[in-house]
Amino acid sequence: MKKRSGWLAKILPPPSDNIVSGADLDKGYKSFRRGLAIILIVLVLVPLAIISIVSHYQYEQLLEQEELDQLILNLEQAQTTVEAFVSKLQSVIKFVARDDRYQELLDPKELEALFVRLQDEYPGFVDIEVIDSQGMQKAYFGPYQLEERNYTDQTWYKQVLLQGVYISNVFSGFRDVPHFVIAVSRKHPQEQGNWILRVTIDAKTLQDFVDTTSTSYADDMFLIDVNRTLQTQPQKYGTLGGRCILHDTEDSTKKSFLKSLAKRDTMVQRAPGMVIIQKSFEKHRVNHATADLENTPWRLVLIKEQYLHADTWVLFKIRLITIFLTCAIIAVFVIVEISLAITNHLRESDKKREQFLIEAEQPNKLVSIGRLAAGVAHEINNPLAIINQKTGLVQDFMEMSEDFAHKGAMAEALDGIQDSVERCKKITHRLLGFARQAEVKTEEIDINAIVRDVVDFLAKEASYNQIRIDFDLDQDLSKIFSDRGQLQQIFLNITNNAIDAIGSDGKITLSSRQVDEESIQVKISDDGPGMSLEIQQRIFDPFFTTKETGKGTGLGLSIVYGLIKKLGGTIKVESEIGEGTTFDITLPVTKSEQEEGT
Ligand code: ADP
Ligand code: MG
Repeated sequence: MKKRSGWLAKILPPPSDNIVSGADLDKGYKSFRRGLAIILIVLVLVPLAIISIVSHYQYEQLLEQEELDQLILNLEQAQTTVEAFVSKLQSVIKFVARDDRYQELLDPKELEALFVRLQDEYPGFVDIEVIDSQGMQKAYFGPYQLEERNYTDQTWYKQVLLQGVYISNVFSGFRDVPHFVIAVSRKHPQEQGNWILRVTIDAKTLQDFVDTTSTSYADDMFLIDVNRTLQTQPQKYGTLGGRCILHDTEDSTKKSFLKSLAKRDTMVQRAPGMVIIQKSFEKHRVNHATADLENTPWRLVLIKEQYLHADTWVLFKIRLITIFLTCAIIAVFVIVEISLAITNHLRESDKKREQFLIEAEQPNKLVSIGRLAAGVAHEINNPLAIINQKTGLVQDFMEMSEDFAHKGAMAEALDGIQDSVERCKKITHRLLGFARQAEVKTEEIDINAIVRDVVDFLAKEASYNQIRIDFDLDQDLSKIFSDRGQLQQIFLNITNNAIDAIGSDGKITLSSRQVDEESIQVKISDDGPGMSLEIQQRIFDPFFTTKETGKGTGLGLSIVYGLIKKLGGTIKVESEIGEGTTFDITLPVTKSEQEEGT
């Protein structure tokens, strides 16, 4: 297998070589699970987060662009509308002040008639006056009778002569009502120079117009002059005659460098005379757009709260984050579950494979050890026969000869030798039997009957040791086709082991039951001392015994194992230290063709 690169090995550690206990193994699975979960989480969440963030910013930028475009459009429309309004006022006055009307207007009655007609259309007109080429007021109609005034020193007078038209800032003046002035100069019919028609208009006219226009375009819309003095009353951002609050905040942020760093104002210049500044106001971000109004002393200001910083956008963001977090939580949950499932699956299959390996190894072990054992047994049988023969000879000689010193003791020793030879013979016989494993002779068999036979055979020994033997036999058990002798040997060996294990005072239970149409099960359990896992793994090995020398051969269970395999069945052991042991044997009802050949 290719070696994993460093970082992967750190997150997903390969199985350790020095696993010595179940706890180590468990730790291995745990760290595998953790590593797998981490990798999956990173793999899912990082792209998800990146995509969310990128698309969020992309969308934000798009919205911002869209918003700016919309704002500029609105500004241009508002600009055109207000400009059109002012220029209409101008042209009305220009029209009234045609060159040839000078004389006519000097007549107070004519002036009054004209003014009344004008006021019909524009109720905001306050007064009207005619000024001659010397700058002297010649006629006046209005509420404030200001006669014989001279305007030559005033700036507006100079400007109107220079430009032909003059529009003043909004001011209160002695009238104490905000108003503005439109003045038009015309060539004097008789004298050198120009005469002037000057109309005072209530600032409310402008205010009303701006207010009705504003609602459709912005949160606030108003006019300022070159000094940024408010010319109409804003709804929110200042008072008439004062300064716009936003301009003031702009000044103050200039002073505090840190504050200006935190939320810098950004400026966008789209067209000449048109400026949009994005600035902070009362925790909001607003777009502050201004445009010059042509032929007037005013600038139009349009203020709109940025959608991107308004509540709806915040709500959208919250929703986005909620969705992201929900997805993330679900993903983490699913990933944790998946890694748990994968790890469990791995653990299970590892366990199965291990068991399978042990099982697969068993027959091989049995065959090779069987051969060795048979060879040894065969070799030993010959010398044993000779020892037996010679011992018999010596015994015969002893019987024929007279008494001599220690004759009795010697006879006893010879008996001992012969006993041992007998025992050796039995062992070699078993070994040979184990290696050869006699042919299977099938016949119809009642398993319950065989179980009872075996117990009958052992009953005496069991009761001698105060061991009770119980049955839990299925009366409807089907008859099976198998080898009687071998089955007896199997149950005998296992029950014998149980008696040995209990020692004295205990209980053995033999039970039988039908598993399905094809197989039956026999269980032999005892309440003996049980065995550790290490011992359980080795009990089927030939010559494995925990009994003292001379008592156990360690062949019993390995023979049982071989026989059961031969009969086409399986054997399993379950044991718990201090609780007891259960051997679980499954046998086929009829032996299948395939297995018969083996
Ligand atoms: P032997 O009986 O000659 O020792 P076996 O192959 O029959 O050989 O048994 C192997 C070992 O399995 C026994 O030494 C004993 O440690 C263990 N063993 C078998 N059956 C039981 C049982 N019912 N309870 C506890 N240990 C058992
Ligand atoms: Mg035994």
